[in-house]
Amino acid sequence: MTRPPKTVRYRPRAFGFAVIAVLSAVLLQGCTRSDDAPASNMAAAREAKKERKELRDNIKKIEPFFKPMAKPEAFDWLASHNEPGQTFEEYLDADPVKPTKERRTIYVLPLGTFSPQQKKIVDISAGYIEVFYGLSIKMLPPQPIKRPLRLKDSRRNPYTKVEQIRTGYILDEVLRPMLAADAAALIAFTPEDLFPDASMAYVFGQASLENRVGVWSLARLDDNADYDTFLRRTLKIGSHETGHMFSMRHCTKYECLMSGTNHLGETDRRPIDACPECTAKICWISNADQASRYQKLATFCRKNGMIKEADEFDRKAAAVNAG
Ligand SMILES: [Zn+2]
Ligand SMILES: [Zn+2]
Repeated sequence: MTRPPKTVRYRPRAFGFAVIAVLSAVLLQGCTRSDDAPASNMAAAREAKKERKELRDNIKKIEPFFKPMAKPEAFDWLASHNEPGQTFEEYLDADPVKPTKERRTIYVLPLGTFSPQQKKIVDISAGYIEVFYGLSIKMLPPQPIKRPLRLKDSRRNPYTKVEQIRTGYILDEVLRPMLAADAAALIAFTPEDLFPDASMAYVFGQASLENRVGVWSLARLDDNADYDTFLRRTLKIGSHETGHMFSMRHCTKYECLMSGTNHLGETDRRPIDACPECTAKICWISNADQASRYQKLATFCRKNGMIKEADEFDRKAAAVNAG
């Protein structure tokens, strides 16, 4: 099965030059298949039908918590990208990549030298992804980037003069050899600035769905940001990109965690949660009970100082539980 490449671009204009971030560009040929694909008996088929009905019913219940996507401002993602969006039904029809029974762990690798604050933020973001997708996370021991790098694998950014590392090197030569058999995905967070190829000024990150590996940079996320903003940016980008690894496309219906983002201002105004349609996809791939998942997210947010979000997750759990 061949699918079109999935590409995500960021173009922060504040830097005075066009920058393009390709976060995922892959063909899904031969990728992991669903573990609840065509039900082999009637009972399983009935169960699957019931589960999807519950998820569809919940879409209506949590709709009031989300803003419909507003008309894009000049430099917003949808001002320059004509995307169709993806409903829950369209996602089911697309035969998405799901965690299988054998692959239910997301490995997270801190790659490079982190400040204590950056490490803390990576740990919290990994914890959020764990609860958000209902998968177990295994934090790998931090690993430095081995130097010297080959000429083609690093460069000085022509504008900032900061050293940048080529994403292809990290994906293919660092991460792929480390991929465990039970990995739903292996995600590296790095404080290093990244570039994908000579034509682009930088990327925030890049993933290969086919190979189940991805790398995300923190280098630009703390730009003019306090701790709370830096944390939310990292957590949003980590969980957004993990969604792509499970075939979730950009959301255009609501202001949603899975909506495309062209600049950090747009990232900042997005919620840390997925809209009703995207949440149905997540609950479906993770076999999660939606209300319990919201309660776990509320507990996680409260523990990590995100009180407003915690209260809202509690309200969503109540809305799902209400008849
Ligand atoms: Zn995206
Ligand atoms: Zn959405």
